[in-house]
Amino acid sequence: MDMLARTSEILARLVAFPTVSADSNLELIAYAADLLSDAGATLSLSRDASGAKANLFATLGPAGDGGIVLSGHTDVVPADASEWTSDPYTLAERGDRLYGRGTCDMKGFIAACLAMAPRFAETRLARPLHLALTYDEEIGCFGARALVGEIARAGIRPAVAIIGEPTGMGVIEGHKGCYEYTTEFTGLEGHGSQPDKGVNAVEYATRYVSRLLDLGERLKARAPAGSRFDPPWTTVQVGRMSGGTARNVIAGACSVEWEMRPVQPEDAAFVKTDLGDYVDRVLLPAMRAVSPASGIVTHVVGEVEGLQVVDESEARDIVCALTGCDHADVVPFGTEAGLFQSAGISSIICGPGSIAQAHKPDEFIAIGQLAACLEMLDKLRSRLAG
Ligand SMILES: [Zn+2]
Repeated sequence: MDMLARTSEILARLVAFPTVSADSNLELIAYAADLLSDAGATLSLSRDASGAKANLFATLGPAGDGGIVLSGHTDVVPADASEWTSDPYTLAERGDRLYGRGTCDMKGFIAACLAMAPRFAETRLARPLHLALTYDEEIGCFGARALVGEIARAGIRPAVAIIGEPTGMGVIEGHKGCYEYTTEFTGLEGHGSQPDKGVNAVEYATRYVSRLLDLGERLKARAPAGSRFDPPWTTVQVGRMSGGTARNVIAGACSVEWEMRPVQPEDAAFVKTDLGDYVDRVLLPAMRAVSPASGIVTHVVGEVEGLQVVDESEARDIVCALTGCDHADVVPFGTEAGLFQSAGISSIICGPGSIAQAHKPDEFIAIGQLAACLEMLDKLRSRLAG
């Protein structure tokens, strides 16, 4: 069977596992583990705290440091079947496209890697080739965060990570981070006629938001010279705020859901330090002077590191050589690449399909994109041949 037919066959199996982020991915991982162990890979599986999800880290070729990681997340966003032309979890070929949830984001890439595994296995590789399959990318990259920690603890130091998110096989060398928070304000309820006897959580939340917006303005002046992002600076945004019960009742609770998209890690530290100082020195003392039980607590929903553009990048050099791309771009969406980079692994994003089809009804991947991905992987195989 040719590689492309084998890739679609594997993709059909992968799409049939409904690995929505909220649900288990264990059956998909077991299927991939079987294919990889048949190819002779060394496998390492690790589950999350619930036991319902797992990461799979497979190695072909020699053990040790300096390997190349091919990374893909196994989870998909939910699909509403009534909005689809055909069942989202049954791969359907129409024209030159394969339809199904996850085909482009990003089971197509995983299928191509699994199809190629036996080829990599029969090649005498000069460096290790790793395949990293992770969970929970769509809801905060929790799987990749755990996996990066696990491989470091296992003493494995790969040199390069290629994240196969859909880029139309273009080369992406940078994206902003995506940090999400919920800040909860607890005050003291009371009668609206005597505001000084209560602690109004809505009013304190408003002061907090106002400080955040001031920081948003100050961040504009911190945009790094030559930033290629749009907008070029780190942004903050308040998406939801809710609190209080009625016009004439002092609000006892309020919560603020906000996000920050850092172009550089220092900006995130700048915002957190400033807000932390403002809370500790100004807001909390004023609240606790009236009610010692008052509080402000920030929950981290997710902190997905940005992918920093760097001058020297082995990952970019390799992928540009493999694909013939003469330039690399930056994108506005977040991926697992920043996590690998922050672990000291040169990281790049390049994968089949278009982000325009991701997270939508009738998600598809063009068969030509899978062919281009297989070609890249086969060139990688030749490059790694000892
Ligand atoms: Zn994705």
